[in-house]
Amino acid sequence: MNHSHLRSPALRLLLAAPLCLAGLTGCGTAAGSTPAARPPTATASSAPSASAAEPLAGRTVVLDPGHNPGNVDHTTEINQQVDVGNGHKECDTTGTETDAGYTEAAYTLDVAHRVRALLRAEGATVILTQDGDRPWGPCVTERAAIGNNAHADAAISIHADGGPASGSGFHVILPATVVAGQADTTAIVGPSRRLGLLIRDDFKAATGEQFADYVADQGLDTRGDLGGLNLSKVPKVFIECGNMRNAGDAQRLTDPQWRQQAAQGIANGFTAYLTGDAG
Ligand code: ZN
Repeated sequence: MNHSHLRSPALRLLLAAPLCLAGLTGCGTAAGSTPAARPPTATASSAPSASAAEPLAGRTVVLDPGHNPGNVDHTTEINQQVDVGNGHKECDTTGTETDAGYTEAAYTLDVAHRVRALLRAEGATVILTQDGDRPWGPCVTERAAIGNNAHADAAISIHADGGPASGSGFHVILPATVVAGQADTTAIVGPSRRLGLLIRDDFKAATGEQFADYVADQGLDTRGDLGGLNLSKVPKVFIECGNMRNAGDAQRLTDPQWRQQAAQGIANGFTAYLTGDAG
């Protein structure tokens, strides 16, 4: 199916303006944009509490770039079974890739770096579960533990899907209520849903990507089989940013400017969640 080919270019143009703030190429002189002035950095005397310039000061976000570029060479290690509370799963998986060979692991790490930069600019402390700095993994159990041990205010696992080639779009995965073994998501189901709704809406607004048409409902799925969610004690969601096996999605996922929009959408969701009244 062809999706919104008429609408997309217009959306892209509208969405190009925020990118210029990041100093990316392609901004040109269009739109007469005078970026909203923002103090470069807080002064040394500023209090540690949140301020207009750094609304996320004192907050901690854990970003989990799904998979690892090295997993493909460490199948024995990543195929170890780990306890996710209500069952056992592989320690980690290799992830998917586009037909052209752009890997999900490369994608997730790139987007995580972009989200990290955006959230740090707002004053947040940002922790990555892996930064291409280990040969494989970590296991999904450790990915959850990193967020727990950091007492993160919120966490996300970033992915891109390997769905049917005919399917496109993105979706956010929320934790189901799972109480089994080491898993007890009772306390995080509510806040994770609020986080997921905000990230879904902000991701859609920033990228123009449609809700997945082959899985989930209105861009939302709820799952009790993911160790990274089952074992989390902090509000956490997964995002499948698109379908790498779909030609249109693959083209967007491969585009650095689109990835910046994706990162902006995710960061906006965190900011809304962490600065919201019910945060
Ligand atoms: Zn994945």
